[in-house]
Amino acid sequence: MEKKMQFNPELAEIKTYEGGKPIELVMREYGIKEEEIVKLASNENPNGVSPKVVEAVQNSAHKMFMYPDDAMVTLKSGLAKQFGVTQENLIIGAGSDEVINFAIRAKANPTQKVLTAGVTFAMYDIYAKQIAAPVIKTTSQQHDLAEFLALYKANPDIAVIFLCLPNNPLGESLSRAEVYEFIAQVDTETLVVVDGAYQEYASYKDSDYKIDPSDLIATFPNTLYLGTFSKAYGLGGMRVGYGIGAKEVIDTLYKVRPPFNVTTLSLVAATTALEDQAFVNEAVALNFSEMERYETFAKENKIDFIKSYTNFITLIFNENLNSKEVAQLLLKKGIIVRDLTSYGVNAIRITIGTPTQNSKFFETFTKVLTA
Ligand SMILES: *Cc1c(COP(=O)(O)O)cnc(C)c1O
Repeated sequence: MEKKMQFNPELAEIKTYEGGKPIELVMREYGIKEEEIVKLASNENPNGVSPKVVEAVQNSAHKMFMYPDDAMVTLKSGLAKQFGVTQENLIIGAGSDEVINFAIRAKANPTQKVLTAGVTFAMYDIYAKQIAAPVIKTTSQQHDLAEFLALYKANPDIAVIFLCLPNNPLGESLSRAEVYEFIAQVDTETLVVVDGAYQEYASYKDSDYKIDPSDLIATFPNTLYLGTFSKAYGLGGMRVGYGIGAKEVIDTLYKVRPPFNVTTLSLVAATTALEDQAFVNEAVALNFSEMERYETFAKENKIDFIKSYTNFITLIFNENLNSKEVAQLLLKKGIIVRDLTSYGVNAIRITIGTPTQNSKFFETFTKVLTA
């Protein structure tokens, strides 16, 4: 008998990451025209990208024959100014995804475990499993810091704790006071990662929920703050994110970073996007005025939702609705949302779109509910 190829056994445990369904696939599979498709599945900025960024990237296109500036000084100096830290406190990744991977590879291993919320960003689990590092999850789906602390105390081999604030895919967040009180009880040997992918939204919604990276790392040198240009800044396609930490933490992450991990055009895009805060502020403000329409819609249709500090809303279904089926029916009508069945929840996550996109969602969803 022919032998089957054997791969590293830890990989068998990994569920390959499923992103939001790409528009191109929906066009092909359902024969829907591109302009009729509404993608509310990947938490992208519905306003698109700042025109200033487009212009800057076009003006730099001729530089793509050269390797990028691997010290990334221009972007780092912008970020240092934005956050009141020094360049030594910064590492840039191809998306903050990559920085998550650096943190896990720098600190976790088969005997040094990772602790996360019950339902949270899938990449923590995937990167940990790639290196056979065990992941402990709270039984609570949302962040419950009392349970985090109990699990941490009961498992002396936990080396990395991920707090996704606000949490993707559920949308909840925690106040700065609660987070600080928790971290103060964690050993300084343990790395606490605060994933702030949606912090621009949370800090707008409630200033008590704002986590300031410079204050965080000054108060707790064992923390790493993560931010991204993929969400509020409208640069999901450019893959740029960053980590902010004490110099010792950042220096170590640099050891697992591949060289030239961020492209020249991505660096230009991120640097310019950072300068256009008006674009970000407008997107965030529109997000929450449109969010109210979703809340009203959910209440009118007696559907539960989680109060969201992000640019998406998660609708929780009862036994009368199956999220997988609902997502499929919406897809056939050209609306792409995120079904959370693979996270073990009967829910869909909808990215808040433009007013027109959201109206189309309400109209289509109503048809699905009454079908
Ligand atoms: C989107 C997201 C990220 C990072 O996205 P990148 O595009 O890799 O920067 C990180 N964490 C969470 C929770 C996210 O939702």
